[in-house]
Parts: sequence; C-alpha cells; structure tokens
Amino acid sequence: MSADAQAREELMRLGASGVPAILVDRELVVGFDRDRLRALLHDAIVACEHCGAQLRLPAAKGTLRVTCPKCGGRFTCRT
Ligand SMILES: [Zn+2]
Repeated sequence: MSADAQAREELMRLGASGVPAILVDRELVVGFDRDRLRALLHDAIVACEHCGAQLRLPAAKGTLRVTCPKCGGRFTCRT
C-alpha cells in the first residue's frame, strides 16, 4: 500500500472525510493552503470523530487520547 493510500485511509478513519483536516507529519493537507500549514507545523489539527470540530493538538506526541471540548466525545489520534 502506498504512503498516499495509507494517509487517505487514516484520514477516513479519523472521520475527517469532507472536513478540513491536517496530518502534518505526512504532509497531507485538506482544506488548508500549504503556506498556512507551514505556520502551524508545531501543532496538529484534527477533526473530532464525533462532531467534526477542529482541534489543535501538540504535534509529534505519538498517539493522543483526545476529549473534544465541544461535544465531550473521546477518540484517539496520532500526531
Ligand atoms: Zn466533538
């Protein structure tokens, strides 16, 4: 499986289909322009699996357990 396909699958697993989301370490950018992403490289932005809210997380921390501040839903993501 190619890296691109893996990144796409991960994005789908994150429930981010159709929602702006960034996987910074894979340079997969959806819904943001790359120049803006560069300014955000120290953070990872993920979409809540439950409500789609965009959450900013510290990047490169490995797998994080996230509690969404908007809906209270919990999910895990890799940064
Ligand atoms: Zn949420």
